[in-house]
Amino acid sequence: MRIINKEAIINAVEKLCIDTNCILNEDILNSFDSFMEKEESPIALGILNDLKKNAEAAKKRMMPICQDTGMAVVFIEIGQEVYVEGSITDAVNEGVRRGYINGCLRKSVVDDPIIKRVNTKDNTPAIIHYNIVAGDKLKITVAPKGFGSENMSKIHMLKPSDGRKGVIDAVINTIEQAGPNPCPPMVVGIGLGGNFEYCAYLAKKALLRPIGKNSEKPYLKEIEEEVLERANNLGIGPQGLGGRTTILWAAAEDYPTHIAGMPVAVNISCHVTRHGETIL
Ligand code: SF4
Repeated sequence: MRIINKEAIINAVEKLCIDTNCILNEDILNSFDSFMEKEESPIALGILNDLKKNAEAAKKRMMPICQDTGMAVVFIEIGQEVYVEGSITDAVNEGVRRGYINGCLRKSVVDDPIIKRVNTKDNTPAIIHYNIVAGDKLKITVAPKGFGSENMSKIHMLKPSDGRKGVIDAVINTIEQAGPNPCPPMVVGIGLGGNFEYCAYLAKKALLRPIGKNSEKPYLKEIEEEVLERANNLGIGPQGLGGRTTILWAAAEDYPTHIAGMPVAVNISCHVTRHGETIL
């Protein structure tokens, strides 16, 4: 049994909250460049250029890329041979608390969500997904998620007879209805199968895949490619002002499902799709 000190978890989560909010991952920055080579609209080109400059300035000054520094979504993969002294959940939330306070990141979480909506003042609690795996390591992934894009996400409980076309149409309709609201260009996570809550988890997990990396499953890769092409022919464009750069990437994850259903979740994200990981 390997013992991991809870302070190590707190420090790792704190750093990941700050870094992911201030430093845009290289894959997204590179995708701006490749879309700028193909983009025909001068307005769209200007916006993509501004997004690049914004990301560069944020990194240089260690300031947030966007004012919406998100709700902290944390994926924990814990090896069966790991023992953490104290509560892992408490350690993760303490890391989020320190990250958002020490990093001067906007605190956006409100308790009592219908009536009082009181700000918790430290961006806790985080949304934490646990996965128990083999080994003696602890992998922490932090993915702060803004709600301009989260609000545009949808779950479609399709019928098996809707087939492949029904799945792709549901994804494209979700992107089309999102329009300018999620600050396009978007990144689209697709969860296929499982059940109601699990397909949403899969869609969120799909957003962690690097841009440019297709699924290793041929049928999912084909869906990803078709969504990318159809979405970029919608004409929504950067910030909804037209152009061919509506989505930067679509990634799909699947899981077996029930004979009577075909759940499809579409988690819309934006050009500030943030995630970072560390292994303890
Ligand atoms: S959708 Fe993305 S870019 Fe727009 S406000 Fe939210 S986090 Fe920021």
